[in-house]
Amino acid sequence: MQYKDTIEQSKEYLRLAVSHMSRFKVPFDPVNYSVWYEYVSGNNKELRIDLDHAMTQTQSITPELNKNLFEKYIVPDQKQILEKIREELRKILENILKHVSDAGGQLNNFGSVIKKFSQELKQDLDVEAVSRVVEGILNETKEIMQSGANLRERMQESADKVEKLSRNLEQIQEQATTDLLTGAKNRRYLTTAFYEEAHQADAAGGDLCLIIADIDHFKTINDTHGHLVGDKVLKRTADLIMNYVKVRDIVTRYGGDEFVILLPSTPLQGAVVFSEKLCGYFKNLNWKSKDKSQSIESIHLSIGVAQYRKGESLETVIQRADKALYKSKQEGRCRVTSETDLEAA
Ligand code: GH3
Ligand code: MG
Repeated sequence: MQYKDTIEQSKEYLRLAVSHMSRFKVPFDPVNYSVWYEYVSGNNKELRIDLDHAMTQTQSITPELNKNLFEKYIVPDQKQILEKIREELRKILENILKHVSDAGGQLNNFGSVIKKFSQELKQDLDVEAVSRVVEGILNETKEIMQSGANLRERMQESADKVEKLSRNLEQIQEQATTDLLTGAKNRRYLTTAFYEEAHQADAAGGDLCLIIADIDHFKTINDTHGHLVGDKVLKRTADLIMNYVKVRDIVTRYGGDEFVILLPSTPLQGAVVFSEKLCGYFKNLNWKSKDKSQSIESIHLSIGVAQYRKGESLETVIQRADKALYKSKQEGRCRVTSETDLEAA
């Protein structure tokens, strides 16, 4: 997003944005601020419509809504960036073709000049004439060598540019599949990864399990310490889970305080054992911070476990894991329920 507002304009937007944010008690962090800046400046019509709608419907703007709007409208428009990258690639390719055909033309030229020189050499020439031919050949050869060096240089420049674009593309891909707040993978990634893993499990007759871990009483953290601390807890929870799992396991933030973890090559019993360990790990973690005013005693997880059955959709597996999670919550939280416990009930 490029901002071209003058200092005076941006001062006015700042004043308006801050006044809206105070009214709705939205924390003054950069993510929230950029949403309201866009709103008051009128730069982003769709965001304005969404926010106006939310204000008239609910009369309250939650930090989650702010974050969703940020992800929807302000995170760099990847389509635009991609289009720019494609355009640049096209230009680079055109340049390469031009350099190659320039050099090709020069090469063809070189061939006929050499032929001309060799014809001349067949004649009975005096020393001066022969030395003119030799000088001519030398000059032509130098030029062709120079053009080769230029071509190499230009090719190298083009390769450097392509490499830079490829790094940009990787970054875009990474951003598109990462949850902004926690750095865990996002839902979009989960969908792709799930079907890839399911395909592999189908092909090799392997096991694939999915667990949903939801933080217990997370609302209380927000209510007691504020959303910014709530955000930090979400980030740390994601980090802890990501460090706890094996490399092949896929940790995604499914929404709010819910994390979905895919466990490839893991049978149901293995997934239950893993979940029990993860649950116990969180139970025994010390969350106390040095800042006593913000001290959080502990963060507990409730977990639901389900196993993928051949051919079924992500939604169906999630539904079973979610039912199991619901049972964990109902039975007192900070525990693990597997889909087989649902059948038994
Ligand atoms: P339960 O033990 O039943 O899971 O209760 P809970 O308090 O954890 O509530 P629940 O899981 O139903 O709701 C999650 C809450 O997480 C609701 C919402 O206010 C909060 N939340 C969702 N997204 C975010 C976020 O990005 N940041 C913060 N700070 N809070 C969020
Ligand atoms: Mg919760």
